[in-house]
Amino acid sequence: MPTTSPTIGVLALQGDVREHVAALTSLGVAAVGVRRRSELDAVDALVLPGGESTTIDKLLRAFELDGPVRERLAAGMPAYGSCAGMILLADRIIGGIDGQRTLGGVDITVRRNAFGRQVDSFETDLVIDGVADSATDPVHAVFIRAPWVEEVGPAATVLGRVEDGPAAGRIVAVRQGPLLVTSFHPEVTGDTRVHRLFVQIVRDSL
Ligand code: GLN
Repeated sequence: MPTTSPTIGVLALQGDVREHVAALTSLGVAAVGVRRRSELDAVDALVLPGGESTTIDKLLRAFELDGPVRERLAAGMPAYGSCAGMILLADRIIGGIDGQRTLGGVDITVRRNAFGRQVDSFETDLVIDGVADSATDPVHAVFIRAPWVEEVGPAATVLGRVEDGPAAGRIVAVRQGPLLVTSFHPEVTGDTRVHRLFVQIVRDSL
């Protein structure tokens, strides 16, 4: 068993960077913002936070990080994408703006702003496979202009779906090997169990 503790980067171009750093730090792992190639090279894994996927896409290119992040993902770097981060890690996107690209990695099609424009934000409780005790103590999930997963290819595994309301059945958490994506924002609730799942994925990859 490797004993080294991982360093997890949080892509720090836009979005909920501080909240992810705080959640990871509270779990006892080193967490640092990543804005440069040299910072990316120094981390074992990467969190892609929520924010605005079109903006993050543009900034990734402007900072010349899109190629290096793609290379790391192709080489097996674990990554966790929340909301806009889920969009960035999806292989296919519906409802993107003209020219919007994703980094890809997860064999899913996501629909941007899927829950409807009139409901910018909603909250619901979810059971998520791999998240400790969520069957008896569900994860309180916060969705903010969130995507859902419209289609899941054979390489990816569904971990969670919305249970009730108009979006019942919609897929909102998926894993593919070392890649984890959620439509919601676990970094804003103080419940660190989704981050704990990701830290375990990272530790298992070392
Ligand atoms: N709607 C945003 C997008 O398309 C995602 C929102 C979020 O990350 N909270 O990127």
